[in-house]
Amino acid sequence: LIPLFLHRFIFQSSGLTTLPSVLLIGPSGSGKTALLTLFERGNHAPTHTSQTPLAVECSLPVGTRAGSDKYRSVNDPTNQAHKKFLLMDTPGHGKLRHHAIKNITNPQNLKGIIFLVDAATLSAGDDALRQTADYLHDVLLILQKRNVKVLKELPVLIAANKMDLFTALPAALVRSSLEAEITKVRDSRSKGLLDSGIGMGDVDDEKDDWLGEMGSKEFKFSQMEEFDVSVEVSGGNVLGGGGASVDKWWKWVSERL
Ligand code: GDP
Repeated sequence: LIPLFLHRFIFQSSGLTTLPSVLLIGPSGSGKTALLTLFERGNHAPTHTSQTPLAVECSLPVGTRAGSDKYRSVNDPTNQAHKKFLLMDTPGHGKLRHHAIKNITNPQNLKGIIFLVDAATLSAGDDALRQTADYLHDVLLILQKRNVKVLKELPVLIAANKMDLFTALPAALVRSSLEAEITKVRDSRSKGLLDSGIGMGDVDDEKDDWLGEMGSKEFKFSQMEEFDVSVEVSGGNVLGGGGASVDKWWKWVSERL
């Protein structure tokens, strides 16, 4: 018996599996549904609450050249066609997070991961900051463990959304606040492991669950490079007064197709 959501996912992905894909994840409310709609249709439609994983076929805007087309002549007719890719949306709700995780561990032609955050909720002491850092920590740890095995590069874009709001932190601050909060998550996780006795006398276990550079005091995204995971932070807004601005994210996607 296949649960309905899985059925829908498998059905929607079938036949499209050869397309390069980009996974879209992030906490609930960060704007995933809005971004998905924008990427798919190039306009803003009312958002629904994402409860089920959803894969949609997207095209790069005309004039954007995919990284793999770099060496093609400008007159090559394939440049005229929209470069297609699959954008996979996953639910951000805590309980449903394992779907997102499954997609990471079992990717089909996965070219990159967009981790969308709400830049207006990431100030120090904000509850959302802790939750976002918690989620991102887990995702990066999975990628770290995965890449040790498959030795394959996987880029992550932390897309800092809602830059149209005056309460939004600029991208550089989004980066440093997440790094500082992930440092705390990492410390409390390793303390938790010690307290529960897991990993006692087994240094390897402990090493496996430590994100980034062993023994480092502060977590930095650059520590992920050792595991072939490149992390970039860039700002944008899917909605908002002056019109949407997701150009940097488009560029990031296009360079990875
Ligand atoms: P999801 O839970 O990650 O799928 O988030 P949604 O796409 O449902 O968006 C959550 C809320 O944030 C909705 O009310 C959106 O209208 C709003 N939102 C999304 N992107 C932006 C943005 O760039 N700026 C502003 N101001 N609001 C946004």
